Amino acid sequence: MNIEEFRVAAKSMVDWICDYYQGVEDLPVRSELHIGDVSSLLPAEAPVGPESWTKISQDFQEKIMPGVMHWQSPNFYAYFPSAFSFPSLLGDLMSSALSVNGFLWVSSPAATELETVVVDWLGKMMGLPQAFLAVDGDGNRGKGGGVVQTTASECTLVALLAARARQMEGRPLSDTGRLVAYFSDQAHSSVRKACMVSVTPHVRVIPTREDNAFSMEPALLEAAIKEDLAAGLLPFYMVGTIGTTSSCAVDPIGEMGAIAQKYKIWLHVDGAHAGVAAILPEQRHHFRGVELADSFNTNPHKWLLTTFDCSCIWFRDADPLKAALSLTPAYLRGKGNAYDFQNWEIPVGRRFRSLKLWFVLRAYGQEKLQAFLRHHIRLAETVAELIGKDARFEVSAPPRFGLVCFHLKDGKNEDTSALIETVNKTGKAFLITTDLSGRTVARIACGGFLTQERHVRATWQLIASTATALFTGKEE
Ligand code: PLP
Repeated sequence: MNIEEFRVAAKSMVDWICDYYQGVEDLPVRSELHIGDVSSLLPAEAPVGPESWTKISQDFQEKIMPGVMHWQSPNFYAYFPSAFSFPSLLGDLMSSALSVNGFLWVSSPAATELETVVVDWLGKMMGLPQAFLAVDGDGNRGKGGGVVQTTASECTLVALLAARARQMEGRPLSDTGRLVAYFSDQAHSSVRKACMVSVTPHVRVIPTREDNAFSMEPALLEAAIKEDLAAGLLPFYMVGTIGTTSSCAVDPIGEMGAIAQKYKIWLHVDGAHAGVAAILPEQRHHFRGVELADSFNTNPHKWLLTTFDCSCIWFRDADPLKAALSLTPAYLRGKGNAYDFQNWEIPVGRRFRSLKLWFVLRAYGQEKLQAFLRHHIRLAETVAELIGKDARFEVSAPPRFGLVCFHLKDGKNEDTSALIETVNKTGKAFLITTDLSGRTVARIACGGFLTQERHVRATWQLIASTATALFTGKEE
């Protein structure tokens, strides 16, 4: 494809994107294909010679699109949202167009410097303490700062590696066998995976309870630490979550922070989905104690209109991170750790992700972004009110950060699962179930950039009438 052919193809693809977004609401949210249906349409070998763009785009439409889940449908309520916005799409396009690799400052100075600026911008919008920012009001660089990683999973892992480097400084290597990490039974699976990947020998999963809104109990955490110390183990890392995946529970970060400081344990705060809610003054109370954390992450790619992938992490002191991840062969020499982001992450190479975040923060501005989040928080509250008016259902946990969980009051777990599967089969909405204290509950995660009140009302009506049809045999 030459430049002129690209000009034509790209313009028609932009038209395709606009048409897609104008019509996405009417598409079945979930693809109803079976495993192997897409691959069976594709040849087993790559083409030997070039194929025409017309043929490629036709195959995209006919063979790929039927197998796509429409995450940007206004009726997609599963998992957490995967944010989309047009400014972000343009940022991704420009990042791909430039195709720079900003692993060192010198390998693309604008990539490093813009990232430092926009991650500080977002940190300030969220009210993070100055210690987490790269640059203070006088333009001086401190020990802290943030970067953009791919995912929250990667953030949790690099924070763990930093915690280990700090704890192991000056200790014999054999002490690694005594390390213990702590998180609640509601922490995301990526926290346990970080422990698996890093071969952390001991993990303590602290139980939460329904009557404690599925939040970490600090007394149980401290008891576990004391027990482990008495057994000769070495507590080094704990993760608190603001907005757990199942129910958006909030761990008591202030109390965890006090325990972390008392026992010299690294506290990482995982706000993968809900962290961006700190840009709302009325939600800041959930973030009390973040100033005691050593690191904090949130994904603009979940709820802040920034396309996947874009996950920001801030460190109060990034030195242990750089100690854990710096390795500079002759061919990768740069300006030094603070500016060479290959030393802040696991891969060497890195995309120019800050470009799309910059586009989003500028194209919306702080007020519009706040309005966007408030809109979804209100939508979830509206759904919770509708649930409250139907005697067959019950809200399973306090609605928070755009998420509401519910279950059939007198139903069995299988009934809630059957209800949601029947709703999903209609193609008019897509949601998932999770487990809270052994009970199967359904989740409605509001966060789509096209989702309006009429969508959530229609979805609730669909759920209620499906329950009637399933469990009483009568249409509502
Ligand atoms: N942490 C929490 C609280 C999450 O909800 C999720 C995903 O939903 C993750 C971590 C993992 O996020 P990622 O896909 O960015 O690794």
